[in-house]
Amino acid sequence: MDHHAPIAIAAPKRRTSLQAQVSWGQRVVTIGGDAPVRIQSMTNTDTVDVIGTAIQVKELSLAGSEMVRLTVNTPEAAQAVPHIRDQLDRMGIDTPLVGDFHYNGHRLLSEFPACAEALSKYRINPGNVGKGDKRDKQFGQMIEAAIRWKKPVRIGVNWGSLDQDLLADLMDQNSRRATPWEAKPVMYEALITSALDSARRAVDMGMQPNQIILSCKVSGVQDLIAVYRELNARCDYPLHLGLTEAGMGTKGAVASTAALSVLLQEGIGDTIRVSLTPQPGESRTQEVVIACEILQALELRSFVPSVTACPGCGRTTSTTFQELTKQIEDFLRSQMPVWREKYPGVEKLKVAVMGCIVNGPGESKHADIGISLPGTGEAPAAPVFIDGEKALTLRGENIAQEFQQIVETYIQKRFSKDSVI
Ligand code: SF4
Repeated sequence: MDHHAPIAIAAPKRRTSLQAQVSWGQRVVTIGGDAPVRIQSMTNTDTVDVIGTAIQVKELSLAGSEMVRLTVNTPEAAQAVPHIRDQLDRMGIDTPLVGDFHYNGHRLLSEFPACAEALSKYRINPGNVGKGDKRDKQFGQMIEAAIRWKKPVRIGVNWGSLDQDLLADLMDQNSRRATPWEAKPVMYEALITSALDSARRAVDMGMQPNQIILSCKVSGVQDLIAVYRELNARCDYPLHLGLTEAGMGTKGAVASTAALSVLLQEGIGDTIRVSLTPQPGESRTQEVVIACEILQALELRSFVPSVTACPGCGRTTSTTFQELTKQIEDFLRSQMPVWREKYPGVEKLKVAVMGCIVNGPGESKHADIGISLPGTGEAPAAPVFIDGEKALTLRGENIAQEFQQIVETYIQKRFSKDSVI
């Protein structure tokens, strides 16, 4: 007799009571509360390049980005923003745009009202709004613009641009402690204090609390986890998560995944961005693909049908198995912009592509549709399993094309809007 309870999945619970809305036209993206964790990204085009930026926003949106941030750093960039918005509207892309402001945001938002109106959210970095006396005044001007245009804000603190006066003040206070803290916890405290004090000032000025989202970005995984756990415990604002300057390629992807997964599993984080440095020639959309993959792997959201594939080993006879896996993955991802509308629920489909008989049939049976390719010494036959049952066996040169066709037929039958299955 077992004396322990059945093992349960520790599904993360959402926690904020505040929920913000970021909208453009009919499109409303809710952030926080019980809303799904949202995906954001940021362009790397020159904002002044209206067409280039609009094209990249479209690509990021089609990849799954639900809000796209662009830098608004000069009068020319501010002038370009409404034209980018118009261009996107003409292309049928209603993804909300977020303006990223530093140093001169107070001026740009008041001098370019069409920019202030075309943006759906403003990102304000309290460490970069001005020094000394100017800081409060300029921060106040940005909040006034947000109130006037009824736009939510993200108060986004970043340790690379932390308010140095505040940090010095906290260092001073720390030195007067009987047992002073180490430098790192003081820095964590400065990040969180900067975000919370700025939010309090915005509310004091008349901003609704449900128009505020907070972030405190750092570039170390353990630092990010420590800061967000504390920030989460001390406020009820929706939180935007991201490991800033995560880096390039595998390093950036892994560091972001490690940090975000721990926090998301604890129910911390309402929007995410993966700040990946693109490899030369790599599409900017890669950061969105990784963000989608993180949420899907944690079973928080589904974006594309998932492909379970074994790693392959000495039992796999050729590269056929790797090619088939890649082909199926590319096929499923490339079809999603059309399938999302046409086949509701298709993103929950599970496909398995396995390399041999050891785990192939078992794993394939757990998927909606799976194929077990022949390993070394096995007969050249690939059984296909549909809904847990062996349905047919593929042989010969065209296994990949035939399997792709079988997957497509299955999707049509099961997920068509008029499907009765
Ligand atoms: S399923 Fe077969 S080919 Fe794939 S890793 Fe396992 S033993 Fe190797």
